Amino acid sequence: MKKYKRTLVTSALPYANGPLHVGHVAGAYLPADIYVRYCRLKKREVVYICGSDENGVPIMLRARAEGVGPQKIVDRYHTMIKDSFEKLGVIFDYYGRTSSKVHRETSREFFRELDAKKQFITKSDEQLYDPEAQLFLADRFVFGECPNCGYDHAYGDQCEKCGSSLSPDDLINPKSSITNATPIKKKTTHWYLPLKKIQPKLETWINSHQDWRPNVLGQVKSWLDAGLHDRAVTRDLPWGVSVPEEIAGKAEVDASGKVLYVWFDAPIGYISATKEWSQQQGDPERWKKYWQDEDTRLIHFIGKDNIVFHCLIFPAMLMQHGDYVLPENVPANEFLNLEGQKLSTSRNYAVWLHEYLEKFDPDSLRYALASNMPETKDADFSWAEFQARHNNELADILGNFVNRTFTFIHKYFDGKLPAIGQLDALDEELINRISQSADKIGAAIDAFQFKEATRLFMDLARFANKYFNDKAPWKSRKEDITACATALHLCAKMTYALGILMQPILPFTARKIQQLLKIDENSMQDWDNASTFFLQPGHQFNQPEIIFAKIEDEKIQAEIDRLNAATSADDPEIEDAPEAPIAIDDFAKVNLRIADVVAAEPMKGAKKLLKLQVQIGNEKRQVIAGIAHHYEAEELVGKQVVVVANLKPAKLRGEMSEGMILAAVDNDGNLSLVSPEKAMPTGTTVR
Ligand SMILES: [Zn+2]
Repeated sequence: MKKYKRTLVTSALPYANGPLHVGHVAGAYLPADIYVRYCRLKKREVVYICGSDENGVPIMLRARAEGVGPQKIVDRYHTMIKDSFEKLGVIFDYYGRTSSKVHRETSREFFRELDAKKQFITKSDEQLYDPEAQLFLADRFVFGECPNCGYDHAYGDQCEKCGSSLSPDDLINPKSSITNATPIKKKTTHWYLPLKKIQPKLETWINSHQDWRPNVLGQVKSWLDAGLHDRAVTRDLPWGVSVPEEIAGKAEVDASGKVLYVWFDAPIGYISATKEWSQQQGDPERWKKYWQDEDTRLIHFIGKDNIVFHCLIFPAMLMQHGDYVLPENVPANEFLNLEGQKLSTSRNYAVWLHEYLEKFDPDSLRYALASNMPETKDADFSWAEFQARHNNELADILGNFVNRTFTFIHKYFDGKLPAIGQLDALDEELINRISQSADKIGAAIDAFQFKEATRLFMDLARFANKYFNDKAPWKSRKEDITACATALHLCAKMTYALGILMQPILPFTARKIQQLLKIDENSMQDWDNASTFFLQPGHQFNQPEIIFAKIEDEKIQAEIDRLNAATSADDPEIEDAPEAPIAIDDFAKVNLRIADVVAAEPMKGAKKLLKLQVQIGNEKRQVIAGIAHHYEAEELVGKQVVVVANLKPAKLRGEMSEGMILAAVDNDGNLSLVSPEKAMPTGTTVR
């Protein structure tokens, strides 16, 4: 492998139109942070760059839905996301934003350079246009029926149901997401990156990186096999980085009102954030070493949905520009599911990072996610597993070992490091284990195998805990005090080693270890020192405190209940709906009726479901409702509820459900059925 002088690490820019959830963390941020922390401990020159992606259509849609300007949306989420990263211990050298002046200038300069080198082609064609909103309908501004699977809310860039990538023209019966109007066709001209022409060059480059993860190479290969299409790098939109005016002037195209496609400017955000970092460092030219010097190793951490942009499109832009280094590796992660289901932002079916951090320790999540990282295939996050990782591994193994060691030292050695005596075979093994583990964990991190690194780390802690047991100091204290002192000395040495080796994964716990050992922060900042121990016998330690308190079942159950409430809508197939206003006729399509609950019983094998018999006028119906965590079956009988009476019947756990009961659900998962304020005859229309 080539020797590099420095490493530049980036994580995918989070989109500033909503908070982060655990899927994001496991995908692009935690692995990068672990990697960067390790590089720092190995004393390598490394810079870690990220920032908010603040351009593009979803931000405009959200702004319109809330009736505010897009700046308000990006300000809110930029602050929130940045704060969550800090609390989780994901520490960037610089966290920028693509609405900054430096970013706009950098992106335009990049565009100018490609234009000057004649790397673009322009094409005119007819595109969908909303005559009411007076906007071209690119990407998510338009929805309609998916030509591949028939889903009726596919977007102009992608069908979220079947995952196929679409262009607005592919949609059947397209509608504007903003006004619901049927679009007309209007002629417009755009700049395109001629990927068809660049493909052979990309193939040669990809072939030189056969060491990349198989899931990444597999996806890249399928794009290449299908043949790349020229890709528009501009859009007709009122929000984004505008196309340079002077190019607008000299081209035959009128570029006014045109902005760079968000996927053209977003990866340039890595460059502009590095520039801003350099300015902050008081060395404004320093970014060039990281982006334009061949001795730099550039690594992009992303989720699998961004592979095509980071492995093909952005590299194509960099190649054609000519002044930049290309990525050395793109260790993309697969997706994280939640309790066996796909995470869904719109259904609130997610573990939101900012909410998690109000209730639990950051290191517990870092550990749970690193232990089960979706490195080469999708992984599943479950609260039960989270609790088990915390209680059975962090608390019972790592925490228990440290606590036992220092409680014993305080009780029988005045809290001072005991002297070391003659070593037996088990003592020798402990010493060897430390240096072997440091090498193995390091090698795993270098190979982007974070799951393996985490396993190896816990194995070392497990060995330590067993060593304490096998040495039985409570016995040797009476029989052979020298052997007892030696064992405790080695347990303290082991704690110091664990404190260093845990830092990439458990940085907050490492700080607690450092305080317990009563040593300064700098003496735990060198990976290669893990197997040396500089403390002298007699060194005074601080009193141990419980590092990991057990997480109680109730706390976990509350989180599971909240998720169940999010899925308690009776139709499990509900997908992301566009946040566009609907017409009164659309609302009138929903037949809402007052119903009497005449019978209710729990569903076998489905803890959250109740089977209800309801009377709607003359008709009796069966409805399956996900409310068992909120209501007892008995207390519902005799209640009046509101039922969606014209919903297509669906089978749930083998039982027919012929309607849906309305309930209010808040963000904490509290649920309340909606009832008429006065008793009404059954079957009465609600409108
Ligand atoms: Zn589809």
